[in-house]
Amino acid sequence: MTNLPVLEDLPDPRGARVLLRADLNVPLRTGRAGRPEVADDFRIRALLPTLAWLLERDARVTICSHLGRPKGRVDPALSMAPVCQRLKELVPEGLFSGVRVMENLRFDPGEEADDAAFVDQLVRGQDLYVNDAFGAVHRAHASVVGPPARLPSVAGRLLAREVEVLERINEDPARPFVAVVGGAKLTDKLGALNALSEKANALLIGGGMCFTFLAALGHEVGASLVDHGRIDSCRQLLESGHRIVLPSDVVALGPGVTGDTEGAPAQVRRFGRDLLVGWRGLDVGPETVAGFANEISRAATVLWNGPMGVFEDERFGAGTWGIADALASSKGFTVVGGGDTTAALRTHGLAERIDHVSTGGGAMLELIEKGDLPGLAALRASGGSRPRRAGGEP
Ligand code: ADP
Ligand code: MG
Repeated sequence: MTNLPVLEDLPDPRGARVLLRADLNVPLRTGRAGRPEVADDFRIRALLPTLAWLLERDARVTICSHLGRPKGRVDPALSMAPVCQRLKELVPEGLFSGVRVMENLRFDPGEEADDAAFVDQLVRGQDLYVNDAFGAVHRAHASVVGPPARLPSVAGRLLAREVEVLERINEDPARPFVAVVGGAKLTDKLGALNALSEKANALLIGGGMCFTFLAALGHEVGASLVDHGRIDSCRQLLESGHRIVLPSDVVALGPGVTGDTEGAPAQVRRFGRDLLVGWRGLDVGPETVAGFANEISRAATVLWNGPMGVFEDERFGAGTWGIADALASSKGFTVVGGGDTTAALRTHGLAERIDHVSTGGGAMLELIEKGDLPGLAALRASGGSRPRRAGGEP
């Protein structure tokens, strides 16, 4: 399937003006003097191989990206300025003069609407287009699908690698192939769960979404997160005959006093698959971690997306750290995606022990579900080899 045009397929990039679509949608925090700064620069670092390749060939690069969800309006809190600052610190001295960073694409309503006039504006004065924004290729937005119809266009190093890894998983994974899925967004992930149940030898489900599956089996899930509109879909998936493994024990928070009120702290205890009324399941239990880890240890390919519990609260982090450790120790080929999941890996210093840490969450799941994405199809249709200055300009 791949056949993505890559950097080497570009007409001579020397001295060319290149529009580089990146995914620099990084988490921000409030820094000195109350100014926003980059809290985690992994996506900026991931762009460096492509950027260096272009700059070493004297290309003049205009980087464009979205940041957060400003919904078509200028929001100074979501300016690219702190991202640009961090990028400048990471690019070797002397090379940065060839770089320009555009302001947040989503400040303009034309970006998400794939507006032709906005595409015109983006490609004006550019010779070539490189897309390295894996985290955005599932969206048919102007900066993703527009330029390939107007300029010679190719995939950057990161995008090409992401697609190569995931297409291998889609088409011919080393077996046994075990998929582990968690997190909170069941609706977003249901399509990928269906696809994974067919492709994987085992699909292990944890996180907030497991309670809708447990509810579908008739278990008492107390006050846990349940998507009532999806119980039937979950039941169908469980009855599909594919190997789907649900937690055998969960860690839950009692209906006691929580948060700001003084008094008895809310209780935390472990249950089997049935909770008591009012209790909220917030992590998978140790027996589940052991079972999942055992499946992972025997797998030749492991794909993980979505935390096993509310790992932001240390009382409910053990499931996620346990699965992270199991992947880090795996002898198989390991792939992890999802913003929260990969952030968890990085905070525990385990990212280096994973074979491929994806910069995409939604894009990864959609590629697994659908086998292709709008931004990839656009690059393939472009082919990367049309004459220079196709975008107009004298
Ligand atoms: P990712 O960003 O890796 O794709 P998601 O955004 O789907 O992951 O899910 C991450 C969120 O899921 C985390 O904020 C975590 O607290 C939450 N979560 C995990 N388990 C539960 C649970 N049992 N109940 C409620 N929320 C949960
Ligand atoms: Mg998330």
